[in-house]
Amino acid sequence: MTKTCTKCKNEIPDLNLTEEARLKLYGLIYQDLKLFAVKQLMDEQKIAHREAKIIVDHLNKKYGKCGRCDYSDLDKENIECPKCGAFNYNMKEPIFNQDFCSLLEFSLPFDQLEDESLRGFWCDGIDPIPSDIENLALEKLKQNRAIRTRAWTGVSGQEIYEMTILFGEQSIYRFEQGLSLEDCIYSENADDWIKVDRNNKRIEIKLK
Ligand SMILES: [Zn+2]
Ligand SMILES: [Zn+2]
Repeated sequence: MTKTCTKCKNEIPDLNLTEEARLKLYGLIYQDLKLFAVKQLMDEQKIAHREAKIIVDHLNKKYGKCGRCDYSDLDKENIECPKCGAFNYNMKEPIFNQDFCSLLEFSLPFDQLEDESLRGFWCDGIDPIPSDIENLALEKLKQNRAIRTRAWTGVSGQEIYEMTILFGEQSIYRFEQGLSLEDCIYSENADDWIKVDRNNKRIEIKLK
């Protein structure tokens, strides 16, 4: 089926990507790396430059929010904005996303860890785009049960740590079902699920 964008009149190419390729594209768009996104489509998907540019122009950054106007209620993928007529691929976000990272960052009880040198630590941000984003593809996640990202933490909240997030049975199950991971954050016995290596600037978090 051929789709045309009502706003710019361009024909919209279908996006038939593997889960890994979708995740990589999502990560690039999320970070505003549009040129890299065009390049990825050309190099890895063998899509012509013109089509790749049209695709990238119609990938909205945030699920629900039109890439062309302020409309923010787009409720499915591949949808025309009812306000401005622009086509939006409106790709669904991974379950591991900004909302979850914000919640996780506020849920890290550094003061409850045995290591007293971590008193006063806090977390000012967790990057929702893992450095190994293709590991968010379900089959890979089931195999590796871990992703790696960055966290801004320390006493200043501004030191960059490499954060490894380990997925347990419950979080894998919820990921598979497309359900939020918010109930997968432990609350008690901080030392059982948070490990901080100050020397190497690494932090490891276990989810349920
Ligand atoms: Zn358009
Ligand atoms: Zn719009």
